[in-house]
Amino acid sequence: MENKGLAHTDLDHNATGTVARECLEAMLGCLQPGIGNPSSAHAAGMRAKGLLQESRAEVARLIGAQSREIVFTSSGTEANHTAILGILTERPDRRHIVTSRVEHPATLRLLRHLEGSGVRVTYLPVDGEGRLAPSAVREAITPDTGLVTLMWANNETGVLFPIPEIAEATQAVGVAFHVDAVQAAGRVPIDVARVPVDMLSLSGHKLHAPPGAGALFVRKGLKIAPLLYGHQERGLRGGTENLPAIVAFARACALARADLTDQAVRIARLRNDLEQAICDRFPFARVHGALAPRLPNTSNIGFGTLDGERIMTSLDRRGIAVSLGAACAAGGMEPSHVLMAMGLDRQAALAAIRFSFGRYNTHACVDRVLAHLPEILREAAARVA
Ligand code: PLP
Repeated sequence: MENKGLAHTDLDHNATGTVARECLEAMLGCLQPGIGNPSSAHAAGMRAKGLLQESRAEVARLIGAQSREIVFTSSGTEANHTAILGILTERPDRRHIVTSRVEHPATLRLLRHLEGSGVRVTYLPVDGEGRLAPSAVREAITPDTGLVTLMWANNETGVLFPIPEIAEATQAVGVAFHVDAVQAAGRVPIDVARVPVDMLSLSGHKLHAPPGAGALFVRKGLKIAPLLYGHQERGLRGGTENLPAIVAFARACALARADLTDQAVRIARLRNDLEQAICDRFPFARVHGALAPRLPNTSNIGFGTLDGERIMTSLDRRGIAVSLGAACAAGGMEPSHVLMAMGLDRQAALAAIRFSFGRYNTHACVDRVLAHLPEILREAAARVA
């Protein structure tokens, strides 16, 4: 990397968050002698089991669930797979799934794969602001529908779907509803005691824990088949639990829950200041999804006809990490499927940069971006000319 020696400014928290010291310490505490396999009957095993139970309760608290409704997985991707495949296997007579065009590849690629084996998928459109109409979900449901799977917050734009309203609708017709809350959890309030979703995916590393642990909330009474067979996680997810990552994930949930509203207000202010300053100084810039309800931490900004990849690389050279569309697509030059679904043309989609804030960002991070942007955009414009 060329940014050696420069202070690092992380504005790419939707890709992965800076690891919180508290999470690291919790993880290290678990890697000491005397902590065994949670399935073992000896003292070290019992200690591990205790930590696992405490972690389960902590993760459950973040979303208003009961401990026994939390199934630990390795990631958000695995949680999504467990939900989708778990329902399909359990209800083989229902071969239709409703989703949206702007889901994360962790969902979309699985669904495309399933289409090859006879599953019918309806991909609902969004409007120019990235919004999904609950009526479209209601209308897409047929007697053959086994599952509605939708994200709570979009990872690229931060746009929030009206999950409570959609949950009421799916509940009314008795169709299982899975929500990918990987970006929403810990950033906006989620309470599954009030919102009748059936399953909900979480991922630790979006919350300042290291990667390695996610979770699927499975509402009490709902039957799904496991993805991995084994005796762990009440038979719903085989494989020895990744206790150090799980303990760190739980610590991250506790941190998020302790000051969720304060952080949301603080971070939204940083995000709004950045957007305002960019739009004031560069009138050709456009905030994608600005009119929709959004996560407080995410800003997806289009820079006219400039080359987004060039802007991202130039920011990176100055020690500022941002993303070009989704992180997973960062290596390629394919325009974002999310922005294309919002009606942008290819060039406009390729000019978009995602800034995503976390709990350790301060106003100095905004100031750094604003200090470097004029030069970076001038250079990018010279390339286009
Ligand atoms: N769902 C959404 C909305 C995401 O943003 C991501 C990751 O970026 C995932 C799922 C996958 O989560 P994980 O990286 O834990 O597999």
